[in-house]
Amino acid sequence: MIQEWDITATNQHRAGRRRYQVAVLPVGAVEPHNFHLPLGQDLRHTNHVARESCALAWPRCRSVLCLPALPFGVDCNLMGFPLAIHVRQATLDAMVREVAASCRHYGIRKFVLINGHGGNDFAPLARQLQADMDVHVFVVDWWKVGRDRYDQIFPAPDDHAGVFETSVALALWPELVELDRAGDGATREFRFQALREGWAYTSRDFSRLSDQCAAGNPAGASAEKGAEYLELVISRIADFLAELAAAPIDEHFPFRGGD
Ligand SMILES: [Zn+2]
Repeated sequence: MIQEWDITATNQHRAGRRRYQVAVLPVGAVEPHNFHLPLGQDLRHTNHVARESCALAWPRCRSVLCLPALPFGVDCNLMGFPLAIHVRQATLDAMVREVAASCRHYGIRKFVLINGHGGNDFAPLARQLQADMDVHVFVVDWWKVGRDRYDQIFPAPDDHAGVFETSVALALWPELVELDRAGDGATREFRFQALREGWAYTSRDFSRLSDQCAAGNPAGASAEKGAEYLELVISRIADFLAELAAAPIDEHFPFRGGD
């Protein structure tokens, strides 16, 4: 069956009869995750979340369009391990800008970026595109969507290639997870209090941070945990997409008022 929310699957006849309201663009990364997860982890899980969210939202609005994912992310701080593929933020921004301009050309002015990699930062671009093109860009870092329920599902806050990502991988592609090769994900602590307390930021060069390109122990990961979090995230994003699709862009959008 042709899924009309999938731009790569629909056709000109069908697309010409639709008035799509929301375009969804997943953005991932290709980078090492400890020794046990696929290099395409971020690309794969972001694509999954974006596609499933669109599929779930579609029957409610019939006006959400999922674009193919941008595969690469900002990875200059992971180049000490094989095989991270680094693309500068400016390059990503240029791609997103031109994809958004194309969607705008066809009347789509609501644009949702589903981001799956912590090194990507689209907030400044969202600000700029709104000013330049009258396009409303919404950025969703998908791993944050279920934060309020995170503690009920996972044992502790987690980072790169730990319980969280390993659980997601076990839920979606267990055949690609080589858990017996995984290191313990141990990291070096910052030597400065300001960084430990989190009120000063610096880029983490992963080859200084970790010997495994990891930050988080995968022990305790399970497919059940991953599936539970994914289901929560996908249902929330689908709700947002359906709501966004139905909302007219009036003078107060995206704020309340005037009604
Ligand atoms: Zn990742």
